[in-house]
Amino acid sequence: MAHHKWHPVSKDCKFCGKQIIAKHVLELYCRPCFHLVCRMQASKLSPKARKSIQRYVRKYGHICAYSGVTLELNDFASPWYCDFSYPDRRNRDKMVLAAALFCVMKAGLTQDEFKYYVIQLHDHRTKHTKIKKRPIIHWRLSEGGCCICGGSKFSKHSPFCAICSHIAHRMKVKRFSIHAIKAVWDYIRKFGYMCYYTGMPLELKDIHDPWYLVFDHANPRESEKIVITSSLVNKMKMDLTESEFWFFLGQLADHFRNVTPVKKRKLKYWSRQYEPS
Ligand SMILES: [Zn+2]
Ligand SMILES: [Zn+2]
Repeated sequence: MAHHKWHPVSKDCKFCGKQIIAKHVLELYCRPCFHLVCRMQASKLSPKARKSIQRYVRKYGHICAYSGVTLELNDFASPWYCDFSYPDRRNRDKMVLAAALFCVMKAGLTQDEFKYYVIQLHDHRTKHTKIKKRPIIHWRLSEGGCCICGGSKFSKHSPFCAICSHIAHRMKVKRFSIHAIKAVWDYIRKFGYMCYYTGMPLELKDIHDPWYLVFDHANPRESEKIVITSSLVNKMKMDLTESEFWFFLGQLADHFRNVTPVKKRKLKYWSRQYEPS
């Protein structure tokens, strides 16, 4: 029987696409990728997550997404050992490679939060600036928490906690578009129940409080962009657009402080008739 001897051939690594010299017919990957592929097979990562790791490797190679350091692929005791990491745990389909050390430091944070707090802490350390708190999305997020804030669920069948469920109900009653509702939730997930215009925490229960959460059309008569703000700001802003509101607020503040004249500006949506009292 004729025995075909396999000659080393040049081919592309099936994972990263880099050229390899395969010494065996079954050799499909470069060494680092072989290692990654084995580990992915052993893990319970979704096919989409695996695909995203492949995209990552093809684009950046075997380096840490958070720090750019070259990753160690064999020594699992090394701080630079290659680990799989979700930049944001809410999206289970997106994974990157990162050094074990930075995966641990980032634990419980999204990639954006991680960057934010690293810079805040460093500024605090070197320039003695005060650390500005920013809500952390996953801090309280445990399996089965509210899908918006991670708090404890209102009931077994609801995806929300009591507060978020109430907000969801209010948006439903107001018949906001799906698009607008999604934008409000994205905002709340990111910043919590904070006023869009001022960053103030909003009151969620007492409807008579000036800081009670209300929905505001950032630009009047454009139904798509809805933001959350306080009752007070909502009243003051009326039919003004976002930029008009800030313009006049600045004009008034200067006027109150320094008695400078308030400049007029043509308003985009103002259409009220003056009603003499
Ligand atoms: Zn490869
Ligand atoms: Zn909630």
